Amino acid sequence: MARKILIGGFKHETNTFSRLPTGLDAYRARAFHVGDAIVEAYGATRTEIAAFLDACKRHGWQPVCSVVGDATPSGFVTKEAFDTVAGLMLEAIDKGGPIDAILLQLHGAMVCEHTPDGEGSLLRVIRDKVGPKVPIGVTLDLHANVTHAMAHHADVMVSYRTYPHIDTYEIATECADLIARTLAGEIHPTVTLAQGVMIDGLDHGRTTTPGPMTEALAMASEMAKAPGVHSVSVLAGFAKADIPDVGPSALVVGEGHDPRYREMATQIMTFAWETRHRTSLTPLMAAEAVRIAKEKGRIGAPVVIADYADNPGGGGYTDSMGLVKAMIDAGLESAAMSAICDPDAAQACHKAGVGARIPLAVGGKIDPLFGPTIEAEGTVTAIGDGRFRIEGPMQNGVMVDMGPSAVFKVGGVEIVIASKRYQNYCLGFFSSLGIDPRQRAVLGVKSMQHFRAAYQPIASEVLIVDEGNGITSNDISKLPYSHVRRPIFPLDLD
Ligand SMILES: [Zn+2]
Repeated sequence: MARKILIGGFKHETNTFSRLPTGLDAYRARAFHVGDAIVEAYGATRTEIAAFLDACKRHGWQPVCSVVGDATPSGFVTKEAFDTVAGLMLEAIDKGGPIDAILLQLHGAMVCEHTPDGEGSLLRVIRDKVGPKVPIGVTLDLHANVTHAMAHHADVMVSYRTYPHIDTYEIATECADLIARTLAGEIHPTVTLAQGVMIDGLDHGRTTTPGPMTEALAMASEMAKAPGVHSVSVLAGFAKADIPDVGPSALVVGEGHDPRYREMATQIMTFAWETRHRTSLTPLMAAEAVRIAKEKGRIGAPVVIADYADNPGGGGYTDSMGLVKAMIDAGLESAAMSAICDPDAAQACHKAGVGARIPLAVGGKIDPLFGPTIEAEGTVTAIGDGRFRIEGPMQNGVMVDMGPSAVFKVGGVEIVIASKRYQNYCLGFFSSLGIDPRQRAVLGVKSMQHFRAAYQPIASEVLIVDEGNGITSNDISKLPYSHVRRPIFPLDLD
């Protein structure tokens, strides 16, 4: 009889400094699929879930699809959301069992209103349910803040090795195949964790330029060749989380218990410490970036400017208007920005209709600390439902639903306005509303790094703007940390 493999996912990167709570509505707005709907949503994608489903076919397993929930990064996950998703997983174990193994796609940086260790709590309740003998395989984002409970309750734990995250399918395949070998009795994996003594490090995990992360990953792949070592992961951590387990870490999946695993993981963390001041980031002020873009950008070879500090992928409110204002003030022509989240402004554009010239207040509405609303007269040049399928290398095949969306043109700057917060990591965030990003001279994107997967190939130059006007700014010195373990860099040590 075919082995039964529980498949599920529960992702969140919680920015504990955000004032937006993450309830069930935030999951439903992004991704919330139960049972067989999971196959429909992810079967034809390059995601972890697709890799798990393919592994079931390859190994002759019967998948038991539980729930996949994913919400755009924001504040604390509510207890209701946690209990609902965890409850659906436990229910699937009851109804679809007996379960032979479990494959979960997690992020690894979930903070709930009732616990700072979302994934550790989830894995504990699942472990309590299935007992110690059912192997649990977990994939993590490389921005996970890994806790001891997470490592303890999993048999296999593997994180992405790319940022932008374009290897999600491959990492999940690695995880599933290690679980297959475990089920066959061929291996007996354990997970060893070493945490660093830093809130932030490893160049935020960037792998697009040589630096601390690429060097740490090279160390890890050498270590993975050692006898008894099945997998080594390097995690840059997610700094915008005021929790005891914040920061970089390393994971070794090894055969049984061996002190070498801790030595390896610790060696990677020592390297993270030694390289803590090295960064590949050279942020500019918005006016300076726009000045360069105006000079160098041309149609067919746009300059791409990333709004680092207000990245929805790290919990940014996605309505900070500093970069847009600089683009308008500079009198840019053939310029576009995607996407500002402002449901009221999107609705006003829909109401006015394409071609209407209207005064509109856009953005700056969630936290006045990060800059004012722009009040401008402009033209509604497009409206749409905000739905399209990702064609870029990241999350390929996944449906995006920005909600009612519009393009509002002020001077020579087209502003894409969405009703939901989305990081721009696919050209579709422009093209789904009729803007061909290749045919613009300057593009602004709400993203800090993931945009590179789709935009680096079409850009003549990439510039990063960080004026500190958002809760994902690289400058963490102003954040009021009070729950992190101490001592920790940069608060105490150097
Ligand atoms: Zn990440």
